[in-house]
Amino acid sequence: MTTHPLFDIAGRTALVTGSSRGIGHALARGLVEAGCTVVLNGRDPRALEKAAADLGGVGGVGGVGARGVGARGAVHTAAFDVTDGPAVAAGIADVEERVGPLDILVNNAGMQNRAPLLEFTDDAWRQILDTNLTSAFLVGREAARRMTARGHGKIVNICSLQSEVVRPGIAPYAATKGALKMLTKGMCADWGRYGIQVNGLGPGYIETELTRPLVEDEEFSAWVRGRTPAGRWGRTEDLIGALLYLASPAADFVSGQVLYVDGGMTSVL
Ligand code: NAP
Repeated sequence: MTTHPLFDIAGRTALVTGSSRGIGHALARGLVEAGCTVVLNGRDPRALEKAAADLGGVGGVGGVGARGVGARGAVHTAAFDVTDGPAVAAGIADVEERVGPLDILVNNAGMQNRAPLLEFTDDAWRQILDTNLTSAFLVGREAARRMTARGHGKIVNICSLQSEVVRPGIAPYAATKGALKMLTKGMCADWGRYGIQVNGLGPGYIETELTRPLVEDEEFSAWVRGRTPAGRWGRTEDLIGALLYLASPAADFVSGQVLYVDGGMTSVL
């Protein structure tokens, strides 16, 4: 099998936040298969241990060692809460010391809270803002402080279809994802001169734990299939190619963009 060298990212080190399950886990798998050393993150060390085992090479909880898996990259874990500034600073410092300099950061950790806006509480608003937006600022800033000093780096923020459009009951989520799109452009503006490219990846409706209530709602599921030119829900694997492209030298002059991987949904009425 031959691959164009522009797409070769073997040997790079990547941190994927929120990668104990769902989209983050699939993206981590893609990076491992591309030969990257990957650090899995989430709040639950046990879930991370299991997620690392699923990828075939386990760094111990709290991160001991890592084992390479053939041509695949090695896997490490780093449990910290991406909404907690001091924990993020300590977590990134620990990852760089234990695993090595980060070449790639994927800001993926996120949450949903579906509720009518009139009933949305102050605490719920702050929680979703912290988890989906402030996290990318905190982890991105901490990683970029090191990447800018080294003169290169790739940051991919996991945005959403809802960075562009919204439906009733998810206004706070859409607000965070719309803001994340603009944070992506702002990071691009501030850090481009240091050799860092920052882009967004915008998944459409993808089957994960986060969307399980929607998948199980037959009426909603039929609506998704009908609204999507591809005629189906997305799978987590559908997102891997876009991430590998954005993380690769092929995208060295691409920054501040959001690449929507949505089966065409954002293009149609
Ligand atoms: P998911 O299955 O609920 O997984 C979320 C991940 O984030 C878990 O690993 C979770 O681990 C971690 N996480 C949550 N809060 C965290 C925190 N404070 N600190 C560290 N880790 C945290 O969600 P998903 O569906 O894979 O979604 C992943 C991303 O894609 C999110 O940003 C989401 O908004 C976006 N997205 C999803 C869809 C979709 O259709 N599924 C569509 C568009 C965009 P712990 O709970 O153990 O910490």
